[in-house]
Amino acid sequence: MSVGRLLRRIVRTGRATQDLPATAELQVRDGFVPPAQLRGSVGVRHVDAGSCNGCEIELGAAFGPVYDAERYGARLVASPRHADVLAVTGVVTANMATPLGNTVEATPQPRVIVSIGDCTRGCGLFAGSYAVVGDVDDVVEVDVHVPGCPPAPEAIVAALRAVTGR
Ligand code: SF4
Repeated sequence: MSVGRLLRRIVRTGRATQDLPATAELQVRDGFVPPAQLRGSVGVRHVDAGSCNGCEIELGAAFGPVYDAERYGARLVASPRHADVLAVTGVVTANMATPLGNTVEATPQPRVIVSIGDCTRGCGLFAGSYAVVGDVDDVVEVDVHVPGCPPAPEAIVAALRAVTGR
């Protein structure tokens, strides 16, 4: 495709990014106040503790071009050492209990724990499974919980905005 055609197509398509509501039905820990150091910009490390991957698809969409969480100051990072926020999805499986605890320990203070999806609080569909040791609340104190199975990208972005304040 020529550059001219490409530019015309870009102009014709316009912006895909949607305006999003700043709030959603979040469950915020009593007394939680976002650390002042994290206002404006945070690094987010995702941890899948045992999800079905439904929440990952919505989390991926939250950082895609339509929902674009980065414009609100949240960006994904590859290591908990670089993270301010841990975004945890799924129940906690037997194999992931120790890695999740280690990831929390590796994340510098002040850190914020965001749990995404019904599995992270109450185990959702997987309650009672032989492979499950508990929910995320059993392993770490959660600051912001995003309910839903799976939650919409808007709700995930709203949870991150509650930390960045943007
Ligand atoms: S909350 Fe629903 S979509 Fe998310 S990991 Fe659990 S079962 Fe899958």
